Amino acid sequence: MVTAIKKSWPWLGNIIETVSTVAHGLWVTLRMWVRTLRPERKAFTELFEYPELPVPVSARYRGFHRFDLTTCIACDQCAKACPVDCIYIGKERVEGAKGFKVTGFTIDYSKCMFCALCVEPCPVDCIFMGANHDLSCYSRDGCLVDFSRLPLDVAWGRATLNPTAVHESKQVIAPVHGGPNQTSAS
Ligand code: SF4
Ligand code: SF4
Repeated sequence: MVTAIKKSWPWLGNIIETVSTVAHGLWVTLRMWVRTLRPERKAFTELFEYPELPVPVSARYRGFHRFDLTTCIACDQCAKACPVDCIYIGKERVEGAKGFKVTGFTIDYSKCMFCALCVEPCPVDCIFMGANHDLSCYSRDGCLVDFSRLPLDVAWGRATLNPTAVHESKQVIAPVHGGPNQTSAS
C-alpha cells in the first residue's frame, strides 16, 4: 500500500514510511523495557557465578584449550598443523627410554584463532578445545599460557583456566609432571 501511495504521492509515502519505522523502533524499545520489569528476570551475574564457575557452553564450543601433560609425547604434530605457529613445544630426550619429555607447552593466545586444527592430528588425544571463553590479562605475557606449568586440573579443564592460575604458572620453573616417560626419566 505504501508503495502505491509512494508512486502517486511520493512525499506522502515518505512521511508514512518514516513515521511507521520510527513507531516500530519505539515499539521494540518499549517491549524490551517492559521485559526488564519482570521480577523473574535476573542479571547475568545472578544466573552465572562467572568467572568463579564457568558459563555453560554448547558441546562443540571452541574455547581455550584443554591439554593433558601426562600423555603428551611431544611429537610436534599439533604445532606443525597450527596455521599461525602459536604453539611452542619444548622437549628433551629421555635417557634409557624411547621418546621425549615435554619441558614446555606454550600457546600464544594473542595469535591463536581457535580453529581447532591442532586437535585433529594429535596421536594420543591429549589436546582439545575447552569451554573457557575468555582470559583477561594486563600484558601480552598473560596471553602466553604454558600448559606444562599449570596445575593438571586447570590444564585439563577440570578447574577454570583463569588469569591467577596463569600468573602463578609463570613462577613454576619445571613442568608439573614428567609426561608418559615420567617413570623412565626419574
Ligand atoms: S586452535 Fe588453531 S590457531 Fe589455535 S593453537 Fe590450535 S591450530 Fe593454532
Ligand atoms: S599435544 Fe598431541 S600432537 Fe601435540 S605434541 Fe603432544 S602428543 Fe603431539
